[in-house]
Amino acid sequence: MGQSRGAMPSLYRVAEYWMSRYEAVFPDLYAYYIGWGEPFCFRCSWLAPVDEAQGSLAAIWGSAGGWLERAHLHDWALGGSNEPENLVPLCRQCHDIMPEFSCRQSAISYVRDGVRKNSWWQFFTDGAFGASAGFPNPPFKVKLLRDAYVRFTEIERLVAAATKGDENAVVRVQKLLGDASWPARPPRLHDRPVTDPDALATP
Ligand SMILES: [Zn+2]
Repeated sequence: MGQSRGAMPSLYRVAEYWMSRYEAVFPDLYAYYIGWGEPFCFRCSWLAPVDEAQGSLAAIWGSAGGWLERAHLHDWALGGSNEPENLVPLCRQCHDIMPEFSCRQSAISYVRDGVRKNSWWQFFTDGAFGASAGFPNPPFKVKLLRDAYVRFTEIERLVAAATKGDENAVVRVQKLLGDASWPARPPRLHDRPVTDPDALATP
């Protein structure tokens, strides 16, 4: 393994590294089925909401920054490198619950054992963010995604309660389904000014 402790490679550079090597390490990777034209989480196969018509893979993966994160396999704080071989694209949810691995192979097992994406979560995020593909503010994307996940898990709980016959939950689910703004489009998303000083950080 390299000893680079320097800057992180871009998300695209990480993806590019794995394009020709993934089968030996991640034989069941989603790319085997869908190719590399749609940026995805290596663990749960969640597809980041990006504009796939941008022309180059570099541009497409570049615009996924903020939706997908570069996760260290051998944890950085425990001595892991910033080499692409030690990094994988993960969604926020998979990265948040990833343990800090002192060994690259254990981390690879964690990524490989991930369950396939929840199709409801995919539908939810496509509906919420599909129109804002390429939004140039990765820190804001992280916030949007975190807020959406909170709302999504609330809705999941509500649907579970409705399924069990909770009448109050049934009414609330019916209301949600009748709401034209469902699933989660944030209000006036495109009107928000970019005020975060990190807004121009590159993915
Ligand atoms: Zn994931």
